[in-house]
Amino acid sequence: MIDGHMHLENGPLTKEYVLEFVESAHQKGLDEIQILDHTHRFIEFEPIYEELKQYEVQKTWLENKKMKFKDHLSDFIELMEEVKAMDLPVKVTYGLEVCYVPQHEEYIRNVLSQYHFDFVVGAIHSIDGILYDMGFSKELLWDKYDVNHIYKRYYELVFQLIESDLFTQLAHPDTIKLFEIYPTYDLKPTYEKLAQLLNKHQMKAENNVGCYYRYNHPDMGLSDELLEILKKNHVELITASDAHKPSDVGSYIKEAMQRII
Ligand SMILES: [Zn+2]
Ligand SMILES: [Zn+2]
Repeated sequence: MIDGHMHLENGPLTKEYVLEFVESAHQKGLDEIQILDHTHRFIEFEPIYEELKQYEVQKTWLENKKMKFKDHLSDFIELMEEVKAMDLPVKVTYGLEVCYVPQHEEYIRNVLSQYHFDFVVGAIHSIDGILYDMGFSKELLWDKYDVNHIYKRYYELVFQLIESDLFTQLAHPDTIKLFEIYPTYDLKPTYEKLAQLLNKHQMKAENNVGCYYRYNHPDMGLSDELLEILKKNHVELITASDAHKPSDVGSYIKEAMQRII
């Protein structure tokens, strides 16, 4: 069993903290974990968040220096290489979860090209400068814009992310559903296109259960409809907890795996 998505972001970049994730994975019977942090932890990526700052609440969220843009990529990589060199009970690899923003694609490409990562996960967390998954997103986005428009833009951005060829894995493909607000149009053609693009660009898709236990969404990861289309197209799937603390590592991975086989 693999848990392909977990974050160190609430703790320090120390060996002791990473080993808590390893230990938790071992206890839950996992064989492999992928550790990644959001690009908003790292000083090198601050410029790609510029557009978000046009809204005061987002600016405040980004200016929390205890959480955001506090470390250098080289320190994360050095730490993870040190951990990987240890004799561990589970396989450990590391990468990033990049907040993909099309305007900053070349900037992202340039930064990524300067470092080694075992994998790079791409995620859409904002729609044209507005985060969709925060408490304040209801007022900023969902109450203000047409739901069909939000979904259309979300999947257009996902397609651009895939076509950038910067990533090996797509984070939580249908997480735009997290507040259980749905469009009125049929998403099947979108899902078919998504499956084809993922295959064409040799990307894995996550069955990420973060929405299930962190946002109380009823789906154990992907929706039945999307999962069925991805399976039919033989898209490579990976189970992921989206743990933000050691105790959440491996959460619902067994259940998530049962759905993808
Ligand atoms: Zn994410
Ligand atoms: Zn994540």
